[in-house]
Amino acid sequence: TSFRDLGVSEVLCEACEQLGWKKPTKIQIEAIPVALQGRDVIALAETGSGKTAAFALPILQSLLASASRLHSLVLTPTRELAFQIAEQFQALGASIGVSTAVIVGGVDMMSQALILAKKPHVVIATPGRLMDHLENTKGFNLRALKTLVMDEADRILNLEFESESAQILGDRKEEDVVVVVVDKILKVIPRDRRTYLFSATMTKKVQKLQRAALQDPVKCSV
Ligand code: AMP
Repeated sequence: TSFRDLGVSEVLCEACEQLGWKKPTKIQIEAIPVALQGRDVIALAETGSGKTAAFALPILQSLLASASRLHSLVLTPTRELAFQIAEQFQALGASIGVSTAVIVGGVDMMSQALILAKKPHVVIATPGRLMDHLENTKGFNLRALKTLVMDEADRILNLEFESESAQILGDRKEEDVVVVVVDKILKVIPRDRRTYLFSATMTKKVQKLQRAALQDPVKCSV
């Protein structure tokens, strides 16, 4: 099987070749054709499986067909993962001129607000900081969003928040803060969108998120 066999556009196949990727990985073979058909995807896949490109290539192909601003949001549990994901979007999407923004904690809100004001194609974010911008950054919203990715969903749902973010929680348990944050994000993005959920494990919390966020998803696992 080649990337072309999966329906990946020529320009993106060439980008894969330039990265030295000779053939798609198992999760890419399963997930990419389903995503290109416009279906929601739930994928059980570990880091190292090639999962990032499994969601990045369909998003880039959608941008290729019709480029729009604030087209896709990737939620991920850590800063490090956010930067790695952005790197792969850049490597695969440079030739089609894709713009990305990484929105994570530890960077000042003001400089991130300026980046968001330029309306990048793809935002890669940790949930707490994204929520901060949705609530506090004037003019920023995700009403044009076409695709939501939840990367390492099991880890997202186990994130712990510092007390500042926990204020929105009132008297709830600390571990529920992230559930509230993700629910809030789901409320302010279009229902009519594509959603890809990637997780290494299928926990009760992930199943609950799947029911809340995905529509008739195709399951992929490797
Ligand atoms: P990931 O599971 O997304 O963290 O990817 C793990 C590593 O595999 C990354 O460094 C990618 O650059 C690389 N990779 C992704 N897809 C392929 C492929 N089809 N062939 C070879 N390497 C790949």
